[in-house]
Amino acid sequence: MDYQAVLEEVAATAAPQVGRGQPAGYIPALAGVDLGGFGMAVADVDGSVTGVGDWQVPFSIQSVSKAFGLALVLARDGESLWGRVGREPSGTAFNSLVQLEYENGIPRNPFINAGALVVTDRLQSLTGDASTSMLDFLCTQSGNPAVSFDPQVASSESEHGDRNAALAYLMASYGNLDNPVPTVLDHYFWQCSISMSCRDLALAGSFLARQGVGTDGSRLLPARDVKRVNAVMLTCGTYDAAGDFAYRVGLPGKSGVGGGILAVVPGRCTLCVWSPGLDLRGNSVAGVAALDAFTSLTGWSVF
Ligand code: GLU
Repeated sequence: MDYQAVLEEVAATAAPQVGRGQPAGYIPALAGVDLGGFGMAVADVDGSVTGVGDWQVPFSIQSVSKAFGLALVLARDGESLWGRVGREPSGTAFNSLVQLEYENGIPRNPFINAGALVVTDRLQSLTGDASTSMLDFLCTQSGNPAVSFDPQVASSESEHGDRNAALAYLMASYGNLDNPVPTVLDHYFWQCSISMSCRDLALAGSFLARQGVGTDGSRLLPARDVKRVNAVMLTCGTYDAAGDFAYRVGLPGKSGVGGGILAVVPGRCTLCVWSPGLDLRGNSVAGVAALDAFTSLTGWSVF
């Protein structure tokens, strides 16, 4: 596969979509971001990485971090997480409170905010420092020791985090958090603030295409658990638009309101695309268009 040629064609196809949509206005530190950015990278299972556009420009990974959080907890703790969080699409917004009360404080899946807070809580119990353990993992797997938190984004989220606090306190009232709510929120905001490029994220997610083996050759997860993380990404990874994403792209994916999307072609490669303009559901407009173009051009989807 001539990745460079494919990516250039994909970028040209997605170009009319760049600049469309809105930034994540509810996080002030992200509200002013230039909507004109677009980058895309492919990390082949052989370890090589190819990119186009702003593929080496760091951006706020936001909820893409949730895919790594789930993998880190499954790797340490096996199946027990599933007693505290489900694995069904929610059919509601990623930060909805309503369903959480009906369902007794058990979030529908690990990728809505409530579910990710439970995952962060578990990672905190398992490691003693959830956000730093995620950062260390991302530095190692991307091969880039400069991957870092963005304190401005973390504090902006914390200052405007009433909705996430409400989710956390509601779950705590049902006994579904082990650590103090402020601790869980803090680690959650720090993990969302991590700043990485498409290159870094595609490499860091490589284990999802390599049956659990990371870029450093170490086994991060059993192949069985990689299948499971990818399945949850496919069904729940792109907010309340996972059906539309599966229809258009046909790959497991995890998006974030920073405009990044990580997608996996099992056995072949991981893809990361970034463009900050979001559609009404919170997915990058140009990012989804680019992934749609990539799988249409290559025929590489899971379907
Ligand atoms: N930190 C963001 C929040 O909690 C993440 C949202 C996202 O990317 O889905 O609202």
